[in-house]
Amino acid sequence: MTSKYRTLKDIPLEEVLTSGTSLCAGCGGMLLVRIFEKVLGSDAITVNAAGCMSLASVFPLTPFKSSWFYVAMPSAPAAAQGIRDALDLLIRKGKIDAKDDLKVVVVTGDGAASDIGLQSTSGALHRGLDFYYLVYDNEAYANTGFQASSSSPYASATKTTTPTEILPEGSLLTKKDLFEIWRAHKPPYIATISPAYVMDMMRKIEKASQYKGPKLFIAHSPCPPGWDIDSDIVIRIAKLAVETGIWPLKEAAYGEVTHSLISRTRRPVEEYLKLQGRFEHLFKPERKVKIIQEFQKRVDDYWKNVTK
Ligand code: SF4
Ligand code: MG
Repeated sequence: MTSKYRTLKDIPLEEVLTSGTSLCAGCGGMLLVRIFEKVLGSDAITVNAAGCMSLASVFPLTPFKSSWFYVAMPSAPAAAQGIRDALDLLIRKGKIDAKDDLKVVVVTGDGAASDIGLQSTSGALHRGLDFYYLVYDNEAYANTGFQASSSSPYASATKTTTPTEILPEGSLLTKKDLFEIWRAHKPPYIATISPAYVMDMMRKIEKASQYKGPKLFIAHSPCPPGWDIDSDIVIRIAKLAVETGIWPLKEAAYGEVTHSLISRTRRPVEEYLKLQGRFEHLFKPERKVKIIQEFQKRVDDYWKNVTK
């Protein structure tokens, strides 16, 4: 399909998410939600699973022009189902006009998406719920002090994976592959997105909008306090994640995966790791060559099988 988003000038000017939140300066997740809501427009109702974004809208104040519904971590997809059903019933009974229908959106962190809310998400995918699902993946439970989630990457330090002499890696576990878990449910649309690739993000949201059913997005979301980075390098970090191949930009419509970007000259993962305090133990007090090589190998192994 031909996209109406050809240059950055095509970003809608109207803000759905306005200023005045208590989130951290430079929050990558907030930037994503802002663009996401801009592209969807104000005729949306967002269901938020408890997490960092819950701080965006605290009664009686809200920076959103559209509706925002806040629920506990496991239940956002179930709440989205209730809202979708209520809208469908109201339209069927003629209480609201079909042209006044709202898009139903879930905004959730990686903890709710990969761990606590995975069961209700799987249920919603199985039922074919017509909704958008956006994960701002900051790779830990940032809202409660940065404990590890199943989305935390190998060799990262979190509050619950502190590197020690006998466990120099920090986290030994592999990041859960949420994209593939979702793909196994065969939804109409899934994509990964990045705040450094706004055009790619907008085109993917636009493309997803043609489908009825679950439309899922996993967003790389640099988190200044949790990743121990300055807020002015958030976009640089996001760009490096893509350029090193750590964060593949891809999509799958009814199952078939295609990558938005396949680079034959990926930067070494070290360029991404060394800028972040959560990976500092890989470089200080001495360089942990084997762990850095293992990290690089995992990324190289992924790209070995990518052809499109
Ligand atoms: Fe955003 Fe991280 Fe702050 Fe949470 S802790 S609001 S994800 S920057
Ligand atoms: Mg998180």
